[in-house]
Amino acid sequence: MKKKIILIDDKPSIGKVVSIYLKKEYDFEYFENPIKAIDWLQTGQIPDLIISDIRMPEMMGDEFLTYMKKNELFKDIPIIMLSSEESTTERIRFLEEGAADYILKPFNPLELKIRIKKIIG
Ligand SMILES: [Mg+2]
Repeated sequence: MKKKIILIDDKPSIGKVVSIYLKKEYDFEYFENPIKAIDWLQTGQIPDLIISDIRMPEMMGDEFLTYMKKNELFKDIPIIMLSSEESTTERIRFLEEGAADYILKPFNPLELKIRIKKIIG
């Protein structure tokens, strides 16, 4: 069975690009904001990995990561953060708060795929 990956990003174009690279190997799903992803998670879905943007209008990646790490059911799901700002401080903060990885935008989808493999195989 294919492993399940979800991507949360307010830009649907990112969802489309990542989907092209991941959909063959993974069961891939895209959400345009964390609220929708949380609604979906609360229906009992447990993805193998989550990729989440940081700067989103409805809910910031920070808040989403905190929510996930505080939730008994979801805290072990690895989360890769996507950042549009190069900031060592931010990178360290997210990694410290439990993010599995932190990738700067624009990213090479192949690099993302390799980083995913390192986390979930
Ligand atoms: Mg964004």
